Amino acid sequence: DFDHVLEALLNTPVDLDALTPDSVLDERWIKEAVTRSGMKFRWAKLSESRERANRDVLPRPPADPSQLTPRPPVVTIMGHVDHGKTTLLDSLRKSQIVSTEAGGITQHIGAFLVQLPSGERITFLDTPGHAAFSSMRARGANATDIVVLVVAADDGVMNQTVESIQHAKRANVPMIVAVNKCDKPQADPQRVKQELLAHDVVCEEFGGDVQAIHVSALKGDNLLALAEATVALAEVLELKAEPSGAVEGLIIESRTDRGKGPVTTAIVQRGTLKRGCVLVAGRSWAKVRFLFDENGRTVAEAGPSAAVEVVGWKELPSAGDVFLEVESEQRAREAVEWRSYAEEQQKLTEEQDAIELKQQLHLDQYRKQREGLTHLSWRQRKAALYRENRKQFAVRPSEKTQREGRSLPLIIKGDVDGSVEAILNLLDSYDAQQQCELELLHFGIGDISENDVIMAQTFSGSIYGFNVAASRPIQQLAARHGVPLRLHSIIYKLVDELKAELSSKLPPLL
Ligand code: GDP
Repeated sequence: DFDHVLEALLNTPVDLDALTPDSVLDERWIKEAVTRSGMKFRWAKLSESRERANRDVLPRPPADPSQLTPRPPVVTIMGHVDHGKTTLLDSLRKSQIVSTEAGGITQHIGAFLVQLPSGERITFLDTPGHAAFSSMRARGANATDIVVLVVAADDGVMNQTVESIQHAKRANVPMIVAVNKCDKPQADPQRVKQELLAHDVVCEEFGGDVQAIHVSALKGDNLLALAEATVALAEVLELKAEPSGAVEGLIIESRTDRGKGPVTTAIVQRGTLKRGCVLVAGRSWAKVRFLFDENGRTVAEAGPSAAVEVVGWKELPSAGDVFLEVESEQRAREAVEWRSYAEEQQKLTEEQDAIELKQQLHLDQYRKQREGLTHLSWRQRKAALYRENRKQFAVRPSEKTQREGRSLPLIIKGDVDGSVEAILNLLDSYDAQQQCELELLHFGIGDISENDVIMAQTFSGSIYGFNVAASRPIQQLAARHGVPLRLHSIIYKLVDELKAELSSKLPPLL
């Protein structure tokens, strides 16, 4: 409730003449204001967070080009539902072009490797559909080098086809079209390629650079051609990474395994992941105990573009988290601790920012008012400020009643909003019919302040307080300036006294 802050600001005894725009934000003042308003106050924590800001782990700077070696492409398959994504992934996994050794039981880990007879390799992500792709994109991480867009030749371009195209374009990821279900009699691959033109996907036969391969995912037809097209595109893209140095990569899947505990699938993007590496991802860390491939076999190491299951996490990181290698467990703990702390601080900072923005708005307004009042004496200025801030409530006496002394300038203070409001309501109904007018100089909650007394004195007004106190120095100040200080704890007694004071100001009966 921002009025309370301003209230508190204005009630803090500060010499107005000594104020400059900067001193308005004086820490003592703000502290006072914030404390009084009941808001949270976090100076200490914010500076602490600044001091600790260098404890996080950050990715390494870009590699020296001489350190880079070619790496396999990482491919995501996208397309409309039922156009054959799952079938294509399954066939790719099982087909002859996959040179897996016998004995492995293929498991779903979120990615798998395909090796062509030529020795070229491709990592296919099979994290279901767009969800993984977009959630990673949203976090600024991009695990995909190439999108294979599956379009069923018997169905053509559908709305999720268009969405997939948009995703790929937004992420700046090149596409290959897999025109699927070409085994079907009603298949019309030509139509598919024509329809794609409408979405700025121009296939080679129309003079564009998008390769379109006619396949049958179900029968396994032409999958090698699709894989070769992918490798060809990867060559054009000149995909490279450094196989040495601290490991960096992306978590693409995470799950809790009964036996292994928290398990993630990680795509390595830099360096070579090995057992014993210490990793930090999100707010978790791992000392790598085991690495598994999609066939459930342990692997000794995983270089750039490889996807492996990582076992050894203390807690489960999320898919889309970046992982980074650190030099020691101690360093990992420190980074994770810092990140948890930073996240909490981030929330608090956002809260604080919102408060500060509001404060700034009020203070700007306050300053503007001050600037418009420079011709007045400081007391007048102070009083005018009060009234300006409470304009909507101020009851202003006409000049005539003022001349005749038939106005009663008032300051009302109460312990809570409700009581002040009750008094104001009573005054409102009173004011309408009387010959003596009320001039509400100021009202608010809290004990009687020096400012209240000075303002009442400036306008020859009275102060009425309900369930509030006036300290001894304030009482003395009021007495010195002849300001009536009327403190009550029973509302009707306050109103009675007020009425009596008003009556005393009425013109004598003739
Ligand atoms: P997804 O929703 O894109 O993953 O599509 P699915 O892979 O689940 O395939 C949807 C249906 O199309 C299934 O019944 C598949 O058997 C069938 N299908 C997929 N590919 C082909 C294909 O190349 N030829 C034919 N005839 N049917 C296919």
